[in-house]
Amino acid sequence: MDDALRSEFLDIVAQVRAHFEYQRALGLSSIETVSLAFPARSAQPVSVPEQRTGHLTLDRSAGLAGVREELGDCTRCKLHNGRKTIVFGEGNPNAGLVFVGEGPGYEEDQQGRPFVGAAGQLLTDIIVKGMKLRREDVYICNIVKCRPPDNRNPEPDEIEACEPFLIKQLQAIKPKVIVALGNVAVKTLLKTTEGITKLRGKWHMYQGIPLMPTFHPAYLLRTPGDKALVWKDIQQVMKEMEKIGKG
Ligand code: URA
Repeated sequence: MDDALRSEFLDIVAQVRAHFEYQRALGLSSIETVSLAFPARSAQPVSVPEQRTGHLTLDRSAGLAGVREELGDCTRCKLHNGRKTIVFGEGNPNAGLVFVGEGPGYEEDQQGRPFVGAAGQLLTDIIVKGMKLRREDVYICNIVKCRPPDNRNPEPDEIEACEPFLIKQLQAIKPKVIVALGNVAVKTLLKTTEGITKLRGKWHMYQGIPLMPTFHPAYLLRTPGDKALVWKDIQQVMKEMEKIGKG
């Protein structure tokens, strides 16, 4: 396919996708959609793996919408007292790759979107510049959905109240790979007391899904010398995604 044809094709694809997303936003959930969601490297042809077409796509977005509905205007833990917005998570319900962080900070609480502050910019750079993916092709969420006061770590009772919703989100999305960002994410998901320094860079399993722990982007802002280690971890993730894509 020459460049002009490819560009026209991608343009049509974007329009079709926007149309279906609009219909979905209107609540027209019974339409059949064609998924483009397995993270396509932007410099490469879009791939449409078999298992991500038709009703499965709908199931995933409907499943996620169901989790959001069940969460409601949550008051299950004390974090609701100080929040402006619930930060549920965002991205493609059909993503092959999910990033799990710790919890919203100030900017995230203001905007209702995960990873949109300074650490979020670094995560976006990792996704876009490093992995050559689009942020909207992956899914990004957190262990807790409301901002802890003064950005302290979430406490055990807060994690316990919120974790069922993360579990259901992951069950709805069924990602191929999970990246756990930092101590809170990895300890919660893997039920371990080991720290991120020991766990990072090696594959672990979460409910049958390969999980790669790596340093949290906020830590990298304070310790830029460790960026190379995160890049190593992310390269392993890219290799795994490629392997799965070809499998
Ligand atoms: N840090 C996190 O862990 N999550 C966010 O959404 C933002 C910053």
